[in-house]
Amino acid sequence: METKAIWLNGKLVPKADATLNFLTPALHYGVAVFEGIRCYATARGPCVFRLRDHIERLFDSARVLGFRELPYTVDQIVEACLETVRANGFEECYIRPLVWLAEGGWNLTVDGGKPYFGIAVWEWKQYLGAEAAERGVRANISSFTRHHPNVMMTKAKIAGNYPNSVLAKTESLRLGFDEAIMLDAQGMVAECTGENIFLVRKGMLYTPPDGTILEGLTRDAILGLAEDMGYEVKAKPISRDQLYVADEVFVCGTAAEVIGLREIDFRTIGSGRTGPVTQQFQAAYRALVRGTHPRSEEWLAPVHPRESFFEEAPEALADILDERLGLFEGGEVPDARHHRKTLEVVATRDPRPARRRAED
Ligand code: PMP
Repeated sequence: METKAIWLNGKLVPKADATLNFLTPALHYGVAVFEGIRCYATARGPCVFRLRDHIERLFDSARVLGFRELPYTVDQIVEACLETVRANGFEECYIRPLVWLAEGGWNLTVDGGKPYFGIAVWEWKQYLGAEAAERGVRANISSFTRHHPNVMMTKAKIAGNYPNSVLAKTESLRLGFDEAIMLDAQGMVAECTGENIFLVRKGMLYTPPDGTILEGLTRDAILGLAEDMGYEVKAKPISRDQLYVADEVFVCGTAAEVIGLREIDFRTIGSGRTGPVTQQFQAAYRALVRGTHPRSEEWLAPVHPRESFFEEAPEALADILDERLGLFEGGEVPDARHHRKTLEVVATRDPRPARRRAED
């Protein structure tokens, strides 16, 4: 399905009309910040994974870049993302909010122009290929170094940071690999071009500390899942040869999700296939984003307003119904959701929201 509408500065416009002036400084100097977010088909309809966290990071990126005032709030952009998905009718899609410097800024300061906002959505399947999850992919250590944190701002998703990733990824693909692993300015493993990296050795997980990397929300989700699954994770400097002798190496990001590296620099990693620990994280992550994991409720934002036949406190009632129907708790969704009688019976049993009842 094609993208139909794009949200530009507060309005949905047809895709063909969402064009920019060639004399937009953001295009010339990379003065823009963006996010990459995924919306998944779940039993509760399309749901966006960690939407608020992504939009908070977007605003943090804008602050890092130097914007002092933005014309929208986090809440407004969260709602605008949901509205854009709804307008395009996607069940699953990628969401790309972008804030860019427009109307001036040729003097190389963000104070010379105005921040404009746009949100596009499109259908995007497996970023590293259809077989990547099962087989794992091949990577090399890039000849390009990751940003020094006092040269480019590594905590922010600034458009102008990304030619570094483009250089590395283009080189890796031309060499016949699928992804590039980038070392930091000290020569230790930093991250991939659009993913964070973990290694597994003797039952322990290791990941580079967050000094020079983008603090990925998928990385953060993996840290939470690891705790649930009883794995100890150490964030410590990792050398490239520590990757070579790992039992498993996997990368994670919104676009790539969780993907094993089966080979690095022509050295087979572990068994040469996606390893058992990586598989466990893939399964947990899949459940998480599909709405069947205990942590799903906290992190999934439904695209469509919850349906309720009750005029009073429809949100609270929807909470109760979701709990009773097993949504977000591993349950298949029964069609009963749309059955007025069942809903009434369930809801009248205890009219207080599920969360409040649990706290009593
Ligand atoms: N590192 C870089 C450089 C990235 O561009 C991304 C993708 N946003 C990530 C890591 C992973 O971040 P996230 O899990 O939030 O998508």
